[in-house]
Amino acid sequence: MHNAQINIMITIALSKGRIFDETMPLLKAAGITALEDPEPSRKLILPTNRADVRLIIVRASDVPTYVQYGAADMGVAGKDVLNEHGGAGLYQPLDLNIAKCRMMVAVRDDFDYETAVKQGARLRVATKYVKTAREHFAAKGVHVDLIKLYGSMELAPLVGLSDAIVDLVSSGATLKANHLRAVEEVAPISSRLVVNQASLKLKRAIIQPMLDAFAGAIK
Ligand code: ATP
Ligand code: MG
Repeated sequence: MHNAQINIMITIALSKGRIFDETMPLLKAAGITALEDPEPSRKLILPTNRADVRLIIVRASDVPTYVQYGAADMGVAGKDVLNEHGGAGLYQPLDLNIAKCRMMVAVRDDFDYETAVKQGARLRVATKYVKTAREHFAAKGVHVDLIKLYGSMELAPLVGLSDAIVDLVSSGATLKANHLRAVEEVAPISSRLVVNQASLKLKRAIIQPMLDAFAGAIK
């Protein structure tokens, strides 16, 4: 029966860029190193120094989906992405404290957000994060019309598409460059480790030591 353990493979879903870069030291702590860099290699499946561990490169917002369906055993995804996904089928055992930023409401410099909210005005809000925005404004009792965008939210208030946006902010430089100001924090954001629930049960002997190593390496 123990022969069945021999071919177990662990697949880890990561997105290129900051999540890949900031996850590498955590993998290192678990004794795992990527054998190729996804940017120059353009490969979507990357081998590691361990024959039983491979990395797959997916769009940031697709990480929860690959893990939910078990195409990846685990992955790293921002809280922004996880909130939109809903988290079904996922264990979220660790906040990795990487890719940190804030989900904010922002408006044009010359838009009086505070008064509009006080007066109970109906706000037009453009965002990629429709579920997050809907929940945020519902909790505040603010009525909103949500407009779904896929990128460059900062443009929307400048051309009259919306009164406000809900977007990720780190330095605030992009807001400033576009004459916008952040008026409200929706949530602090960092990336979490997500694990497929069935994988955790069936492959616990391999996955649990990895979780312990990640936990010990979190800053
Ligand atoms: P894509 O660029 O493919 O449209 P994306 O913008 O979601 O997708 P990234 O820019 O790689 O992908 O962001 C990945 C995650 O990093 C986000 O889901 C978020 O949690 C976090 N993040 C995004 N922007 C910043 C930032 N400026 N600073 C720190 N963390 C960020
Ligand atoms: Mg991006």
